[in-house]
Amino acid sequence: MTTIENQCIYCHRIYRKKENYEKHAQCCEFFHRARQKKSHDEQMDSYDIIPSPREMFQLLKELAYRNARLEEEVAKLRQSTSLKQRNIIQSNLQCVKPALTGVEWSKTFTVDMSDLESVFEYDLTQGIKHCIKRNIGGLKTLGSVLPIAYFEQKQHNLYLYDYDLPQDKDVVEPPKWQIANQYHLDKIVSILSMKFLQYFMAWQRDYLENNKKEDEDTMKNKLIVYMMKINSVNSQVDRRRNEVKRVLQEMGKAESATKTESTKAESATFKAESSSGKADSATKAESATFKAESSSGKADSATFKAESSSTKV
Ligand SMILES: [Zn+2]
Repeated sequence: MTTIENQCIYCHRIYRKKENYEKHAQCCEFFHRARQKKSHDEQMDSYDIIPSPREMFQLLKELAYRNARLEEEVAKLRQSTSLKQRNIIQSNLQCVKPALTGVEWSKTFTVDMSDLESVFEYDLTQGIKHCIKRNIGGLKTLGSVLPIAYFEQKQHNLYLYDYDLPQDKDVVEPPKWQIANQYHLDKIVSILSMKFLQYFMAWQRDYLENNKKEDEDTMKNKLIVYMMKINSVNSQVDRRRNEVKRVLQEMGKAESATKTESTKAESATFKAESSSGKADSATKAESATFKAESSSGKADSATFKAESSSTKV
């Protein structure tokens, strides 16, 4: 006996469209199995039998169960995909060797009057952000390899080329690309805060020197306000850290884009690898969605049958 394509093995109905056949087959199989348990009389011409409310309930239960399993599967897939992506990013970043680690690099930053003015006008956090943007902006025009990287769309991690922090081992391992943590960020913030303080002290000296004629009280008051702003080292630590991270991500994102242009061969392999990784999981996710959809299709047709049965009665 030859099997005709898209023919249901339970009721022998033939479908022109594969999709309709698949929707039908799963449903038909369910009712077929359910009816096998029933008496012979009831089994006669199972083709036209309208599912009973009990059968409908069974079907719904089964669908709910399958759906829950699918959801679990999708969640697992998502998790492994993000882990895969992280591994791909990290292993590809190992080819990029910046001259300095992130923390060392922040020590090369300079503070200028425009940064200080930003502190005076707003606060230390704004000043630090201004300083980072200005310094990295200058480096980018020189085409330097930065020790930060950020991949938009992929993950919201900031990658940093640095030592492991906090250093809890006796043997110091060489720096490597890793996800920047609180310790890295706090170190960078404290280095830059110190630079601001030094710059401010020098500026204050000059200011006092050049403004001797000014009313002393106004001058002192102004300097006290400035001093408080510069010294806000211990206030709003979390906010400052998060904002600095965001600026570094922003600057690292633009940097990765220019990196792609300059080293096309490297980034091409990177893209190929990451996209094949994506394709893999995307197909899986898709087929999972497809299954979920087709099972909802089943539910639909079940509802339809239920409705048509009520109209017949
Ligand atoms: Zn069938």
